Amino acid sequence: MLDRLDTVERLHEALISLERSRRREGELRAVEASRADVVRALALAQHRHETFDSLLEALREVLPFEEAAILVDAEDGTFRPVACTCAWLSALRLRSGPMLARVVEGEIVVAFDAGLIPEWRAQAADVRARSRSVIHMPLRAGEGAVLLVCTHAEAARFEQRHIELVKGIVPLAGQILQKLDLREVLTEREQERQAQLAMFNAVVDNIQAGVLVEDAERRVCAANEVLRAIFGGEVSAGNLVGTDAVALNAGFARLAASPEAFAARIERIVRERALVSGEEIRLANGRIVERDYVPVVTPAAGFIAHFWQYRDITARRNAEEQLRRQAYQDDLTGLPNRARFGEEVNAVLRNLRRHPDRRAAVLFIDLDRFKIVNDRLGHAMGDQLLLAFVDRLRRCVRETDVVARMGGDEFTVLLADVEAPGEEIHVARRILDSLRDPFTLGGEHWSITASIGVATCSSAHDSAEEVVRDADMAMYRAKASGKDCLRLFDQNLQEYVSRRMHLEQDLGKCVERRELRVHYQPIVELATGRLHGFEALVRWEHPTSGLILPDRFMPLAEETGHVVAIDRWVLETAATQLADWRARYPGASRLRLAVNVSRNNLTGGTYPDVVAGIIERTGLPPWCLALEINENVVMEDLSLARRTMGELRMIGAHVCIDDFGTGHSSLGMLTQLAPHVLKMDRTFLADLDTNRTHREIVRTVVALADKLGIGVVAEGVEAMAEREILIEDGCLMCQGELFSPPVDAEAAERIIADGAALTLRGQTRVVH
Ligand code: C2E
Ligand code: CA
Ligand code: CA
Repeated sequence: MLDRLDTVERLHEALISLERSRRREGELRAVEASRADVVRALALAQHRHETFDSLLEALREVLPFEEAAILVDAEDGTFRPVACTCAWLSALRLRSGPMLARVVEGEIVVAFDAGLIPEWRAQAADVRARSRSVIHMPLRAGEGAVLLVCTHAEAARFEQRHIELVKGIVPLAGQILQKLDLREVLTEREQERQAQLAMFNAVVDNIQAGVLVEDAERRVCAANEVLRAIFGGEVSAGNLVGTDAVALNAGFARLAASPEAFAARIERIVRERALVSGEEIRLANGRIVERDYVPVVTPAAGFIAHFWQYRDITARRNAEEQLRRQAYQDDLTGLPNRARFGEEVNAVLRNLRRHPDRRAAVLFIDLDRFKIVNDRLGHAMGDQLLLAFVDRLRRCVRETDVVARMGGDEFTVLLADVEAPGEEIHVARRILDSLRDPFTLGGEHWSITASIGVATCSSAHDSAEEVVRDADMAMYRAKASGKDCLRLFDQNLQEYVSRRMHLEQDLGKCVERRELRVHYQPIVELATGRLHGFEALVRWEHPTSGLILPDRFMPLAEETGHVVAIDRWVLETAATQLADWRARYPGASRLRLAVNVSRNNLTGGTYPDVVAGIIERTGLPPWCLALEINENVVMEDLSLARRTMGELRMIGAHVCIDDFGTGHSSLGMLTQLAPHVLKMDRTFLADLDTNRTHREIVRTVVALADKLGIGVVAEGVEAMAEREILIEDGCLMCQGELFSPPVDAEAAERIIADGAALTLRGQTRVVH
């Protein structure tokens, strides 16, 4: 039994050994074949790579490897590849260790899992992942050792028996090495490396930015002159390559406006190795530097270096700043301009959406009659006036409020934080009040007023334009309300403005469309009602709105300049009419025609010529025409008024000062201007029976005018009582509804034809 068992076991063993020897024989035959192949291939190989390839080809017959490399002693304690089958292996640096020492001694060493071997554990992750199985073979042992490594990505692919198999091929190494001529390879490599380095350095030197390259160990690999120029003295004059990059960066940090932040940022970038582009740094010396950072990563070796780039962008920033300033700033005043103001308002609107309980407002300020002052003063002085105004304006608002110039004589204020209700109105009033004292320019005093529109920012506003538009509309309302005042924006205003816009368009065409009419209001002797003349008063027969009185469209006509054409038309029409009446009614020969002259007519300087032309064309005696200039207009520019009035007198026309008593003129002024007539304003006469001061003034004016040979016409006399007082105080002439309202040409003609004195309203006719 034992025997039998023994026999079976022995038989079994014999079978196994037979099988083993058969396999071995096959393998050995393969080795033999490989050897033969290698020898043949080596004999044929002309080039180094062919040699290497033949060797690998032979090895493949017996060894299931994926990649291979020939390593040489780089004399810095590492073995580096001089030939390899793939790019990732070229980054291999095997540092001498116990395993490698054995290979150098001449032993073939198999690593079943290279991850466990210190020499391989030190490699980059991807190299480790691709070479779990490694077999190390000495092609030449000892001094100047040359090694062959073959790898496989899976662990335990090579077995002990493979050592036996490759042993047959490795001895061919002598011939192989001869063919490979490794020294040549090495020097060629070195030359290549040097050439590459030189090129790299040349590139670095020629980059128009400061370049710093640090290797993974944070040693300086490259740095250029521009870098030195940017960081100046802190970067030592010597060669930086090889020095400690951490110390160098610390030197840079000392130059930064905030050194701690600079240093912390560098550390963070190095740690995170994330791209940085165009990061702005301020240096303590005021210069601005821009930083880029790139972690240099190669497919073969992974991360290899930190690449820093610094650019001095101070000049560019300054230029940009300059441009921005130009785009956002008003040249004359240095105030924010319209664009910038819009941005500020938009920011406030955004803020209001988040905090609906807060309040903000915009004031739109337009100087009244600035154009006249500017024309008179000249632009340089006009600019001075604007600057002086801005100065006062600034004092009316808080530091945090934004004052801007929209252009010309238009300014805006953003009250970003209105604390108390109505505060914006107080500010607007303050601004109006600040203008009460005249400005002194070129030794002269100049009074100027402003019209202010106020709009509250609300959630209904989508953009700054809308708020500014509302404030602008309110400002126009202030202008139309007689200027020197403030108006608030409300919904009615919107309608008003759109109506006004249409009116403005129509106004430009009313003359050519023949929509204007002249009405004539008799000027009579107070005591007798005898007709002395007429005042020509314009009306507008609007196609849809009907008859419009001048108070509704003349302010707009003045603002838009249409008034010049309107006035000429009125003068021409009324003068032609009078000439016609004179021709047909003998009683008309002593009548005078009063025509109103707007301020716009005066500024042109040609008005007297216009009047002279009309006198010539109509053949009227010049004294028939009496030109009425408003007292306010006279006071606005006294010397211009004096000159114009003088010229009109020269051609024989009469001149009146209209609305006398409203424009704060002095009686002394009358001697200078020497008008023919004063028209006393109605507001001033209405309460004559109760207001002692007014009565005293009337009496004084009449007496003084009489002494100076100036006639007085009381305007707007409506009541008998007024008439009586005026007669009592020596006033001779009047114009008012007590006698007649303005009437059309036909009705006026009937009055002339009648030849009699006008009756008092509701009274019997006064016989002259
Ligand atoms: P104004 O030159 O002071 O003209 C007198 C105004 O007083 C006229 O108003 C007239 O209708 C009104 N009026 C006359 N008597 C009475 C009265 O008893 N009671 C009252 N309450 N008012 C009376 P109107 O025609 O509406 O003209 C208003 C203003 O428009 C004029 O004031 C004048 O400044 C301006 N205007 C009228 N026509 C022209 C024109 O052709 N050119 C220019 N530049 N301005 C004109
Ligand atoms: Ca008048
Ligand atoms: Ca008047």
